Order: sequence, then C-alpha cells, then structure tokens
Amino acid sequence: MTYHGRFAPSPTGRLHFGSLVAALGSWLRARAEDGTWIVRIEDVDRTREIPGSADDILVTLAAFGLVSDEPVVRQSDRGTFYDDALQRLVDTGLAFACRCTRGDLAAHGGLHRGDCVTAGDATRTPAWRMRMPTGTITFDDAVFGRLAQDPSLAAGDVVLRRADGCWAYQLAVVVDDAAQGITEVVRGADLLDSTPRQIALQRALGLPTPAWMHLPLALDAQGRKLSKHDLARPVDAGDPLPALRDALVFLGQPVPCRTTVTELLHDAVAAFRVDAIPARLPADAALRKD
Ligand code: GLU
Repeated sequence: MTYHGRFAPSPTGRLHFGSLVAALGSWLRARAEDGTWIVRIEDVDRTREIPGSADDILVTLAAFGLVSDEPVVRQSDRGTFYDDALQRLVDTGLAFACRCTRGDLAAHGGLHRGDCVTAGDATRTPAWRMRMPTGTITFDDAVFGRLAQDPSLAAGDVVLRRADGCWAYQLAVVVDDAAQGITEVVRGADLLDSTPRQIALQRALGLPTPAWMHLPLALDAQGRKLSKHDLARPVDAGDPLPALRDALVFLGQPVPCRTTVTELLHDAVAAFRVDAIPARLPADAALRKD
C-alpha cells in the first residue's frame, strides 16, 4: 500500500518552531516511506482563524522545502461531507442533539457522559454529540509504543458540531483523513489524547483507522507547548536553514552538512530514523502505556 501522509495546520497564526517540527517530521516520514505528503488547512473554527495565516503558512512551508503533493484542501469547503457523516451517525442512533451548557456539565467534571444533564433551552440551537462507547481503546504509536485510554472516561460524548454551527475538529479530521486516503497520521503529541476518540469515530463511521506517529512537543521556557495562538516566535522563512537544522536535532536526527534546503532535506530523508525520535509523553497526557 502506498504511504499517504499529511500536515494539517490550523490557520491560527504564523508557523512557529513547534509546527515546523510537525511539518518536517510528517514530511520526512512520508518521503522515507516513498509516499506522498499533503497539506490540509484545518479552518473549521472560524472564531480562532487569523485572516491571512493560511496563505502565510503555505508560503513559509514552501520556503522550508515542504510543498504539498496535491492541491491544498481547506476544511471550510467541506461542510457537506461533515454533514453527511453527522447524518449517518444520527441515522444509526449514535449522534444526538445536546443543549447542555458548559456550566451544566461543570458539576459532572466537565464531561458529557450518557444522558444530557439538562433538557436545556429548546429555543437554543443544539450542539451535536456522539455517544462515546465505553471500554478501553488501544493503539500502537510508532514513537510512543502501545497506548491505551477509555475515551468515555477521558473525554465523554464528543462534540461533532458546536452550537454556534462550527464543525468540530474531531469529526472533520476523521472524515478528511479517510477521504484523503491518509495511511499514517503524524502530528504533535498534544493530540495523543484525541487519538482514541478519533478511533471510536472511525469505527462508528465505518472508516479505516490509519497508523499513528506522534512527535515530541516543543515547549517554551515555562514548559508550555508553543502555540501559534500565544504568538510563539514565528520561524524565519527568509533564512530557513537554522530552524530546519534545529528541527532535525529536536527530532533526534543527524544534521547533514549541507548548505541548501533541497540538499539538506534530501540527505535528512536518507538518514531518517523513527527510533531516534525522543518519546517524551506530555505531562498531562490522559493515556497509559499498555
Ligand atoms: N489542526 C491541528 C493543529 O493545528 C492538527 C490536527 C491533526 O494533525 O490531526 O493543531
């Protein structure tokens, strides 16, 4: 089977070192497997989008030699596919309308589990949730090994569409990874917690489950994840080599002695070793080693 990988940034700011690590890691893995690599812009949450950042991210990636093998897909164009998926889950009785507010759920640990805690205000547009099946979900991660979580306890009934009409990341990512034939998801370890939820959704929708590979997170001096949102310092598209070399070091890879982006990437693919990537589980990860 041909390897199909992806990098799926949200356009919430400029590309910083943490997102460069995810982009480079997923690209190296795809190239080392002789596969294809695509970029998908995850712009379902219009409230967090920074105008212009999707294009800025694509231009910056290109300066780092990372160019999508297929036309870039934007999730904002794909609402009908998410609608179909939601409808299928409604038809099979797995999805339901929910008018619980965050305040309602606060007394329940913030999680929605099973029945709604309130009938809610019938005039209010509902969110749509999927009833999370109980039981442990186990998966093999190429960096972290076998991990396990019961998503009904860790996450509860997952939101598919928010009350404000925005599609939820969890539904959109699962629909698109399947539609784009992604064979392995490579991304930051902050999303490890989401993986069991996504496997549950894939099963409910009858979609294939890809392989998984999560990358260690770049943290700031206070030990917090770098995020575009917090205005972490963007990488310099005008001088890509230093950040590319730093990203290779961060991923435990050797740094080829090369002075152009193309040559550096070429040699980095040849030297790429998954077992050299440091397996640092985020302190707040709600999964256990199995
Ligand atoms: N869009 C997500 C982010 O920028 C990544 C989603 C994924 O790779 O599954 O954090």
